[in-house]
Amino acid sequence: MDNTKYIFVTGGVTSSLGKGIIAASLAKLLQARNYRVTIQKLDPYINIDPGTLNPYEHGECYVTEDGAETDLDLGHYERFLNVYTSQANNVTTGRIYQSVIEKERRGEFLGKTVQVIPHITNEIKDRIQLLGKSGQYDIVITEIGGTVGDIESLPYIEAVRQLQWELGDNNAIVIHLTLVPYLAAAGELKTKPTQHSVKALMESGLKADVLVCRTDRELPDDLRQKLALFCNVKKEAVIQSIDVATIYDVPNLMLLEGLDTVVLKKLALSDAVAPDLTKWNNFLQRHKNPKHRVRIGLVGKYVELPDAYKSILEAFIHAGAENEVKVEVLMIHSEYLDETNLQDKLSGLDGVLVAPGFGERGIEGKIKAIQYVREHKIPFLGICLGMQMAVIEFARHVVGFENANTAEVNPNSLYKVIDLMQEQKHVTQKGGTMRLGAWDCELQAGSKIYEVYQQPLISERHRHRYEFNSEYRKPLEESGLRCSGINPKTGLVEVIELPSHPWFVGVQYHPEYKSTVAKPHPLFVAFVKAALEYKLKK
Ligand code: GLN
Repeated sequence: MDNTKYIFVTGGVTSSLGKGIIAASLAKLLQARNYRVTIQKLDPYINIDPGTLNPYEHGECYVTEDGAETDLDLGHYERFLNVYTSQANNVTTGRIYQSVIEKERRGEFLGKTVQVIPHITNEIKDRIQLLGKSGQYDIVITEIGGTVGDIESLPYIEAVRQLQWELGDNNAIVIHLTLVPYLAAAGELKTKPTQHSVKALMESGLKADVLVCRTDRELPDDLRQKLALFCNVKKEAVIQSIDVATIYDVPNLMLLEGLDTVVLKKLALSDAVAPDLTKWNNFLQRHKNPKHRVRIGLVGKYVELPDAYKSILEAFIHAGAENEVKVEVLMIHSEYLDETNLQDKLSGLDGVLVAPGFGERGIEGKIKAIQYVREHKIPFLGICLGMQMAVIEFARHVVGFENANTAEVNPNSLYKVIDLMQEQKHVTQKGGTMRLGAWDCELQAGSKIYEVYQQPLISERHRHRYEFNSEYRKPLEESGLRCSGINPKTGLVEVIELPSHPWFVGVQYHPEYKSTVAKPHPLFVAFVKAALEYKLKK
C-alpha cells in the first residue's frame, strides 16, 4: 500500500456549489505547507471525456499537457497549484465502463459475471489510486462530480466507501460541501438541507468528516454547534464558506476557518509548517489594487455563458494583476456583429480578443471584428479559431483572395487559406482525435512573439483539426503578414502577426490553458500591456 493520503470531496443539496474551488483552495493551503498535492475529478457522465460536449453543457473543455480533454475544474487546479495535471486527473463514467468492457472482451475476468460491484468499483478505486501510487504526491484530493443521491454517483460513493474501509480512517477522509441557505421569509439560515444530504451520504455508507457550508452570511456559533450535532462531525470541522468577490480569496478564507488544520489532524499529518502564502497574497494585492483600467472585447459566440471562456477570463485576471491593471472584459456576440454596430461595439475598446471555437456560427462577425481592429490599429489577440479568422480576413481584404475561407466552413472555397491538417484527412471518429496537447513552436528572432516570450523555443497546448495552409504562406507574407512561430517538426504555422500594426498577434495554440496565479501567461501579460499603452496614447 502506498503512503499517500486521500481526501474525497462530495457535494450535497445542489450542484454548482464550487467543489472545484474548495478542493483547489484546500490543495493550495496544503501545498503552502510543503505537502505535494494533486487534485482529481471524477465525472459521473457517460461521455468518455468532455471533448465532444457542447460548451453549453459543462462550459469550457480544458486541455492538459498530455492532450487530455478534461473538465474545466482541472483548469482551476492548475491555476491554483501551478502544477500540471494529466489524463489521470479526470475520470468519467464513460471511461470507467469502456475500460471494464475492454477487459471483459480480452477475457481478463476469467468467465466471471461482470458487475457494478466489484468490477466497476474496482476500476474506480484503481483510477483513484493511480495518482497516489505514482509516488509523486503526499495527498490526493478527489472531487466527485454531481450531488450525493444522484443515481450516476452511486458507484463512486460506493468505491470511496470501500477504499476508506481498506485504507483506514486516518488515510482517507470525506469533505462534504453543502448549502446553508438563508430564508428571507423566516429571517434565518436553514440547516435542514444539510442534515438531509449528510443523511443521504450515510445511507450510502459514508460519513462526512468535515462539512464545508456554502452560505451568503456568517454562520453563528449555535448554528455550527447544531450542524455538528446533527451531522455527527466535530464543531471545528464545520467550516463556513461565505460568498466572496473573487475565487482567489477562498484559500485565505479556508485558512481562517482552519480547514487545512482540521484535515491534517484527521489524516494524522503534521501541521507544524505554517502555510506560506506570500506569493499568492502578492498576487491578490496587485489584483485588488489596480493602477489603471482597460476594456477588452472578447468576441465569441458563447457570450451568455462565461464558463465557455473560463481559462481566458482567468488568464486576464492573472495578466491584469501582473500589470496592475483592472481588465474589464466585455463579451461581444460574434453572431450579431455587422456594419451597423461594429463601430459602436468596438471603437471604445483598448483591445480585442477573438475567441476559439468550432463551426460556422458567428464566423463572419469574427472576421468583421478583425478587419475593424486591424484597420483601426486596436491591439488584437486571436486564439485558435481567432487566429484562423485573422488569416482569412487578411487573405480577403489585404491580399484580395475573394471569399477566402477555412475548409471547416466552406470546403469548396477557391482560397482555402485554412485547411484540414494532413493527418486529419482520414479521421472519422470525433472524440479525442484532434491535434491535442503540448507541441513545440520555434519563434523568429526580432518578431513581436519573440519579444513576448524572450526565448526561441516554446511549447503550448493545442486543440484543433484545421491549420494555416502553407500553400498560401508566400502570397500572404508578401502582402505583409508575418509567420513568426513555426512547429519545428511539421513546419506548421503556429503564430502570425502584422509588423505594420502596433500589436496584432494570432496563435494557433491556446495560451490560456497555461496561465496560473504563480505564472501569468506572457502572451496575456503582453496583450494587456499593449491595451494599456494604446489607451494611454488615445
Ligand atoms: N475549429 C477550429 C479547428 O478545429 C479551431 C478550434 C479551436 O478554436 N479550438 O481547427
